[in-house]
Amino acid sequence: MILINHFRCPCCHGSQYRTSIFDVSEKNPSGAKCIFCKSIMSFDGANTIKENTLAPQPN
Ligand SMILES: [Zn+2]
Repeated sequence: MILINHFRCPCCHGSQYRTSIFDVSEKNPSGAKCIFCKSIMSFDGANTIKENTLAPQPN
């Protein structure tokens, strides 16, 4: 099991984000959004992680 907490904003390249169940969508299965520009966060790093390995954040 891989803990997924390495996101990076594709817009402002920030690494700080919030997760919200209201932001969960097909493109954003973890509901993570940049706290600065509200863009959907994308995975940071070379490893490709399958979407179906994502677990919902309890907050
Ligand atoms: Zn951003």
